[in-house]
Amino acid sequence: MHRIHNFSAGPAALPDEVRFNVAEALSVPPDFQPSVMEISHRGPAFADIAERLMAGLRRLTGLGDEHAICLLQGGAHLQFAMLPMNLAAGRAAAYLDSGHWAGKAIDEARRITKVHIAGSGEGGNYRSLPAVDPALPDDVAYLHYCGNETIHGLQFPEPPEAGGVPLAADLSSEIFCREYPFHRLGMAYAGTQKNLGISGLTLVVLRRDLLERIPEILPKILDYRTWADSDSLINTPPTLAWYVMLEVVEWIERQGGLAGLGERNRQRAAKLYAAIDGSGFYNNPVEPAQRSIMNVPFLVPDAELEPVFVREAEAAGMPGLKGHRAVGGLRASLYNGLDDGAVDALTGFMADFEQRHG
Ligand code: PMP
Repeated sequence: MHRIHNFSAGPAALPDEVRFNVAEALSVPPDFQPSVMEISHRGPAFADIAERLMAGLRRLTGLGDEHAICLLQGGAHLQFAMLPMNLAAGRAAAYLDSGHWAGKAIDEARRITKVHIAGSGEGGNYRSLPAVDPALPDDVAYLHYCGNETIHGLQFPEPPEAGGVPLAADLSSEIFCREYPFHRLGMAYAGTQKNLGISGLTLVVLRRDLLERIPEILPKILDYRTWADSDSLINTPPTLAWYVMLEVVEWIERQGGLAGLGERNRQRAAKLYAAIDGSGFYNNPVEPAQRSIMNVPFLVPDAELEPVFVREAEAAGMPGLKGHRAVGGLRASLYNGLDDGAVDALTGFMADFEQRHG
């Protein structure tokens, strides 16, 4: 029997080993010992999970005490609002408009504070990344960018330069896909349903000195200080999601950490882009140096072939290849948990599909 290769954009494939470990941890033993879903978050068993998880996140990010590391709920969408509520503090905030997800963050920030667009890729249909306007006012509270545009398939090779302005990053589909200079960031957030485990959590890292600007009037649950001061245990956390993230973090370390994964991810993406570029049938319009190694959107010559491709790929054991509803087309997401044979299986299928329909 052939295995299924899961190209879903999120919630996304977990590493096989993580799935096996989680299934084992949730299985019902003969004495009905409670699982991680059924124990108090104030008890010693969960405290051990929390401590190992936070230590692992510090090792992978390389961040020391000058940054707080928090786990919140509400997904990246809650951070679109919490970031300006907490850190704009009456000032304007700058945003780079690189595509769909940057746009969502901008729309939400506009409800809360004055937004300065520091660069936009809209004129070029988001096929390349905007540069930061050299006239960026230096009194803006922060500069926000989306590290990887999951829908357009654009990825910042490195964080943008913003002078002395703190950087705030949406790393939802970028986090831990390679080594990353987290120490350069004032704030970053990432939903956990792509490279960090299952949905239900958001990783937030924050430079502690920025906590001082948070207005006193915020409800406590929306105030980053509450999360930083309570080890993220302000109320009942999604204990299963914490546990799965611990399994993912320990799995990443067994793969040679972020350096090892980065190398593997770059090779996988290069193989798929080579198949697209070499075909004359498939097309990816993104500026080559800014192509994402996590999300690879591509087109076929006739939009009517898209549902055929999706259906046939699914029948061949490759679900999750339909493009986002906002832009259509096709998209392969190559997150950390994707199995090793998946890209070869996909490029083989693509060659065969081209022969039959080209
Ligand atoms: N930002 C990016 C870059 C994303 O890819 C997504 C989800 N695909 C989001 C934000 C929204 O995440 P959530 O559903 O966790 O709010």
